[in-house]
Amino acid sequence: MKILIVEDERKTGDYLTQGLAEASFVVDLARNGMDGVHLARTEDYDLVVLDVMLPGMDGWEVLRAIRSAGKTMPVLFLTARDQVEDRVKGLELGADDYLVKPFAFSELLARVRSLLRRGKAKEPEMLRAADLELDVLRRRVTRAGRRIDLTAKEFALMELLLRRRGEVLPRSLIASQVWDMNFDSDTNVIEVAVRRLRAKVDDDFEPKLIVTVRGMGYVLEVPDQA
Ligand code: CA
Repeated sequence: MKILIVEDERKTGDYLTQGLAEASFVVDLARNGMDGVHLARTEDYDLVVLDVMLPGMDGWEVLRAIRSAGKTMPVLFLTARDQVEDRVKGLELGADDYLVKPFAFSELLARVRSLLRRGKAKEPEMLRAADLELDVLRRRVTRAGRRIDLTAKEFALMELLLRRRGEVLPRSLIASQVWDMNFDSDTNVIEVAVRRLRAKVDDDFEPKLIVTVRGMGYVLEVPDQA
């Protein structure tokens, strides 16, 4: 099992590296966020131990960069601040667990082992509707076997529609889930994004999957074959 530690404090970094190596893990240590992201993207880790307070690129940005590269390994956050906002923010960004500094090494080891057990159970996830396929882990979409290139936002929108297929999704919900913003009635960001997504995944194909429900929002539906 291979673990990446991202920690700028020399003592803590060395101590964690040594402790985890003694517990038979293969360990890489990054002393800043940039190196952490680079390693996380290029190597295969089973888990990342990530310090929140890093100079330059902080832990939030590191986590976002790791997730946007399609990496789904569990991430254990180390935070000096035991604050509710931190936890909420971290969980929204895809952190899997927290440890508040200072902590006992035995506690860290227990969390690491528990996350690794959970992580193992995760299967590569494939979402499908008719002949459209979305590979969650590899960030790939195909329709009728043809690879379709989507932007990060289009991909997030497609994933949301697929996960909640059959459910009419109001624009406000799409705005908060995909754009991380509150819905502003003046904006047509969502309409534009849906139009672009349709042009890529629906225009050249049958059946049409993305349906507009006037005055309500959008729904992904697979029409019954007559
Ligand atoms: Ca730090």
